[in-house]
Amino acid sequence: MNSNVTHVPFVSFKPLEKEMKSEIENAFNRVFENSWYIGGNEDKKFEEEFAKYCETKYCVGVGNGLDSLMISLKALGIGSGDEVIVPANTFIATALAVTYTGAKVVLVDPDIETYNIDVNKIEEKITQKTKAIIPVHLYGQPCKMDEIMKIANDHKLYVIEDCAQAHGAIYKGKRVGSFGNAAGFSFYPGKNLGALGDAGALVTNDEKIATKARAIGNYGSDYKYHHIYQGNNSRLDEIQAAILCEKLKCLDEVNNNRATTAKKYLEGICNPKISLPKFIENVKPVWHVFAIRCEERDRLEKYLNEKGIATNKHYPIPIHLQKCYEDLGYNKGDFPAAEYISETELSIPMYYGMTDKEINYVIEKVNEFS
Ligand SMILES: *Cc1c(COP(=O)(O)O)cnc(C)c1O
Repeated sequence: MNSNVTHVPFVSFKPLEKEMKSEIENAFNRVFENSWYIGGNEDKKFEEEFAKYCETKYCVGVGNGLDSLMISLKALGIGSGDEVIVPANTFIATALAVTYTGAKVVLVDPDIETYNIDVNKIEEKITQKTKAIIPVHLYGQPCKMDEIMKIANDHKLYVIEDCAQAHGAIYKGKRVGSFGNAAGFSFYPGKNLGALGDAGALVTNDEKIATKARAIGNYGSDYKYHHIYQGNNSRLDEIQAAILCEKLKCLDEVNNNRATTAKKYLEGICNPKISLPKFIENVKPVWHVFAIRCEERDRLEKYLNEKGIATNKHYPIPIHLQKCYEDLGYNKGDFPAAEYISETELSIPMYYGMTDKEINYVIEKVNEFS
């Protein structure tokens, strides 16, 4: 097979942006004509539409995904002296959101098959101080929410879902983000639903949490110049909200396109040196990342890069071995699954609008690796 492709980027925004050029320009112009940039109708409209999309009652727009989690935790009253359970294999933001509230991060090793938090290892980490669990639907794969909600109910813990990589993913017929007390989303440009800059939102079914979160994100004020919390400045600006409204309309199409690419990878990649991603029953993942595993990961990475295929590692250093978390006192060997993933995981190109030529080229080169 001669695919005639010499370069496949890891991610490209171009295919979607080409299709949406006029909608995006109109959204920008709408806000610009209005001359109102923060806390206006576009934010309100996006919040209504995104809450509906997530099958939740409320949505509060914030500045980014990290803040969506931190503000959710603060709105639940979590802070200094509390402990929060976080998977050991996630982006650093999940842990930082906890740290910024003053609470302590308690890590749990992931399950090597799904890469998500190992539900059998949560209970052993629960103490008198534990207040919440943050399941992360990593790479767009829903966590085992039934098991997690049962543990949380048994121990009276809050659940804050980290949905930064899982916009629209479905677990047993329901959208992720609708299971816990609150859920955080990032609209960083590279996420499945991406703004043209930093943006985020939290969703919840609890009116009190929504109201408190909105106040915290707006300098802790319930009305102008009246501050009931020492809040943050974290709001979703009108231009990003207007663009997100347009992009939300095609989120399902974007996710389906990713799923089609994932299916082609799953059917086409066949190499005894490569492990393909697995997902649990009764879910619809949204393939934020297509994560393969290889014992000779670094050699595979170099080989693919030389063939013009861009790759990434999610994540090369697990949280417990990051310099910034030295103070947690963890050592190498403490989270074997997270460490194994960090040494063997490789993410291959995945984005809306990949061409068959590109997909086939990736499959061909991965299969030729020996
Ligand atoms: C991207 C991401 C975040 C943080 O989102 P930002 O918008 O970059 O702050 C949090 N958690 C996970 C799992 C992410 O992938």
